[in-house]
Amino acid sequence: MIEELRSLPSVDRVLNDARVRKAGEAFPHETVVGVIRRVLEEKRLVMRAEGKAIAPDDVIAAVVSELEGLAELSLRRVVNATGVILHTNLGRAPLSEDAIAVMREVSSGYCNLEFDLEAGSRGSRESHVEALLCELTGAEAAAVVNNNAAAVLLGLTALARRREVVVSRGQAVEIGGGFRIPDVMRQSGAKLVEVGTTNRTYAHDYEEAITERTVALMRVHSSNFRIIGFTSGVTLEELVAIARRHDLLVLDDLGSGCLLDTTVYGLSPEPMVQQSVRGGASLVFFSGDKLLGGPQAGIIVGQKQCVEKLRRHPMMRALRMDKVRLAALAVTLGHYLRGEAVARVPVWRMIAAPLSVLEERVRKWLEACDGAEVVEGETMVGGGSIPGSGLPTRLLAIAGRGGNSPQALARLLRARKVPVVGRVEKDRLLLDSRTVLPEEDGIVLEALCDISRRLKRG
Ligand SMILES: *Cc1c(COP(=O)(O)O)cnc(C)c1O
Repeated sequence: MIEELRSLPSVDRVLNDARVRKAGEAFPHETVVGVIRRVLEEKRLVMRAEGKAIAPDDVIAAVVSELEGLAELSLRRVVNATGVILHTNLGRAPLSEDAIAVMREVSSGYCNLEFDLEAGSRGSRESHVEALLCELTGAEAAAVVNNNAAAVLLGLTALARRREVVVSRGQAVEIGGGFRIPDVMRQSGAKLVEVGTTNRTYAHDYEEAITERTVALMRVHSSNFRIIGFTSGVTLEELVAIARRHDLLVLDDLGSGCLLDTTVYGLSPEPMVQQSVRGGASLVFFSGDKLLGGPQAGIIVGQKQCVEKLRRHPMMRALRMDKVRLAALAVTLGHYLRGEAVARVPVWRMIAAPLSVLEERVRKWLEACDGAEVVEGETMVGGGSIPGSGLPTRLLAIAGRGGNSPQALARLLRARKVPVVGRVEKDRLLLDSRTVLPEEDGIVLEALCDISRRLKRG
């Protein structure tokens, strides 16, 4: 055993290995030594547990791999060719050029985040987006927080703690990524009162559940699933009417929250924020990085009195947004106000891209990749919006050949400097042109040349 432990190389020997020196050249001496010590310690434990020797080269390889991991940025840009526009795992909405520019600008130096330039004294960070949000949605007041999950949690905590909130059983759901309405409700201290059945809820179900402890009726948009067939729900207008009779609030979690009409593009209707405000919701909650196409944010619009209560709650301070995303949100909202969202906001550029343009682009992709073909398909909006309804699209389909399975080809694309992420379906690698921005075509073309070479080699 002692003999075997001795077979581990010394720190100095590892440190002086050419491979380690190269991998560690960007780091201070102490950092490299620290990594070596840690790896040696781990190997020593493995040797003790398994009772066998470890080759010095194994130690070197482990140290090099750790150092390379530290040197390389883990979070990187990728090209989304998956066919899901709002892909949560790929960071949801890409931002407009102007939004990116302002993020750089406000973070390169200082900014007037909480500073009133006219008065020369303290200002409010939310002033930068509130007027825009009110103008766009028709609401009296608006507030923004870290994300929509935070917005709903804050809303329930500030308004419904120790009180009851009535929700249809069909809406007490999990939205994905661990956002479950019953759990959020519990966390906020509000008591969830479920009414109706999974598929049918009527106005009288809400009415009968109201007690003197009830503070609000809540609607949760069934973002990422759809119940079809024998169903019945209560409209927002009906909820508002019941709430008025009983002096209650109406909380509306829209999820995606959309400012434009999706049916123009042949999609199913996604509830619009303006409709909820006009319909009389006390507060409307939605995400910044779903169909709005902006940065991650939780947006709350509605009646001034309610918004003020949220703003004054101590939790607001813990959930507030940072200057960089706030700036990007303001620019994104500006695109809508100027009527240029479809031309400027990437998510809407993708939704609105004509099929003829997609066809033309995929034909170019095809030229770079022998043996592939252009196929028809559907792009999903994703991100918890418009379930079960897609946009027609054109994809490049590459069949696996010889030693190259479609999975291996997909891996090859993911291993590139700018990874291209597609999807494998029915033994083919599919790349959807709708979720790739035209300015990314060059990256896709290079990747396809690589695949083409690989396929030729067999
Ligand atoms: C997506 C979604 C949320 C969570 O929003 P995040 O911005 O991801 O926190 C909450 N409610 C509904 C209905 C959603 O669709």
